[in-house]
Amino acid sequence: MTSKRYIVDYDSKSHAVESKNSGSFSIRIRAAERHLVRSPSGRETLCKQISLGEIYDAIASEIPHAFLAGEEVCIGFVANVLSKANMISWIQQRILPKICRDAINMSRNLEETGEEGFLVEAEVEVIKEISLEGFYDFNDYDSVGRLIPTEPDCTICLEELSSGGPKTIMKLRCAHNFHRDCLLTWLRRKHSCPTCRYDINSPPPRNDLPRMIIFSKEKLTRGGSSGFKFFPQINYLCNR
Ligand SMILES: [Zn+2]
Ligand SMILES: [Zn+2]
Repeated sequence: MTSKRYIVDYDSKSHAVESKNSGSFSIRIRAAERHLVRSPSGRETLCKQISLGEIYDAIASEIPHAFLAGEEVCIGFVANVLSKANMISWIQQRILPKICRDAINMSRNLEETGEEGFLVEAEVEVIKEISLEGFYDFNDYDSVGRLIPTEPDCTICLEELSSGGPKTIMKLRCAHNFHRDCLLTWLRRKHSCPTCRYDINSPPPRNDLPRMIIFSKEKLTRGGSSGFKFFPQINYLCNR
């Protein structure tokens, strides 16, 4: 299973510049994509990160003194500048309050020191996080009593699984075990189990316990001359 979320990382520095009665700001926006592996207990491990570079040309503008009087007027002014630069509205919404607060604080500080203008330089990173779910690492093993690997060797590097201890083992929903590092390297290229090709993006089984047999949906079958008989239908879950 894959889930996505967006994070906006905002960082700024401000300094006084020679400019009468106004503040200015400049914003640089970069994007990145981050792939994570998440276990049922919520533990996340970074699998890979791709930098996508700058997604907008640097945006710079002056904020006239009148617009530094309060947050509302300042947000209105800066929003107008960002919209003209065609910035996506949800990115705007996340950075507007921050950049305006920085600008207003800076103008108040300057009033005390008697200097006249300032520049707020904001560095913004928009990160798309993609989480792959359905991995068990040693903490999850403990909670569900599945610490012991089901195979002796890691089929990626062909070395013994027990060599590195339980902390280095990771298990997939299909119940196959690998060295944690071997599996993370593999997942950078493919989203399937190296042993059985179980598709990691497929929905989780109804019952998440591997190697389980469930007797369900009794099937009505015609049983000879005596009439109808019930036979259990066997569903093998993740036991490919
Ligand atoms: Zn290995
Ligand atoms: Zn498998």
